[in-house]
Amino acid sequence: MRESAYIWMDGKLVPWGEARVHVLTHALHYGTAVLEGTRVFDTPGGPAVFRLEEHLRRLARSARMVGLPLPYTPEELRAATLATVAANGHASCYVRHLAHRGYGEMGIAARRCPTVVSIASWEWPPLLGTSGVRLMVSSWQRNDHRVVPAAAKATGPYLNSVMAKDEAVDAGYDEAVLLNAAGYVSECTGANLFVVRDGRLLTPPPSAGALEGITQDTLERLAADLGVPSARQDLLRTDLYAADEIFLCGTGAGVAHVSAVDGRELGGPGPVTAKLADAYEAATHGRDDRYRHWLTPVPAA
Ligand code: PMP
Repeated sequence: MRESAYIWMDGKLVPWGEARVHVLTHALHYGTAVLEGTRVFDTPGGPAVFRLEEHLRRLARSARMVGLPLPYTPEELRAATLATVAANGHASCYVRHLAHRGYGEMGIAARRCPTVVSIASWEWPPLLGTSGVRLMVSSWQRNDHRVVPAAAKATGPYLNSVMAKDEAVDAGYDEAVLLNAAGYVSECTGANLFVVRDGRLLTPPPSAGALEGITQDTLERLAADLGVPSARQDLLRTDLYAADEIFLCGTGAGVAHVSAVDGRELGGPGPVTAKLADAYEAATHGRDDRYRHWLTPVPAA
């Protein structure tokens, strides 16, 4: 990974190598942290953060859901985000917000451990590449919402994603898709999933165990403006096999077409995927005025 100069940690920018925590940090032992992944894109007007307000709102929602006090207001986090990206001098980058239960008292009870907030940024190309994702249906089931809140972007539940991802990669695939307790498709390890069938876009709802993805929402809005119908509905494993096209989407992943699922070839990218990927590229890079309100310019340091 390409290191940047600074990381913002609890109110100030510190050199990258000094953003450290104690080994008895609560979150290391019990997964008590919430996170966000946001991207800064290179636009004609300079670097700009894509849908920053929505990412900060989701961070606050995740913290509320898991009972983690967030000691900064959205305005403070917004300013800190822009300051971090500006100090690191990126033209484009990924930004990782993390609010974790820090060092205080050992044991499961979390209340005596303070919340530590950090914001890191670094240059990171789209994580699933552009050559087509070979997807497998995981042998692991998605976290059930009765066990941990699927809607919260919290670190503990990501163990489920990590095991599914490692299983897929070890078996020679690129990515895993997880089914929920009822056998319906939820999402991938770090991305939402869309199926295209007969010109219609279909994606699992949050009740299937999928994160409320900001890229998913973006693509639904772009699809509406392009006249492509879309719906959130439960999908069976066989809906993946019967799909005309499948693509994954997320801040880290971008829009990535699936070239095969469980060895059933799809090729691609198909025409609907290609059209949406182009629209996403134009919106994120400030080349479509209709979506300029989604971009927050990064002021010069
Ligand atoms: N699902 C999971 C499990 C993820 O980790 C991500 C990445 N944040 C997504 C979906 C996509 O969400 P977003 O488009 O907001 O990045």
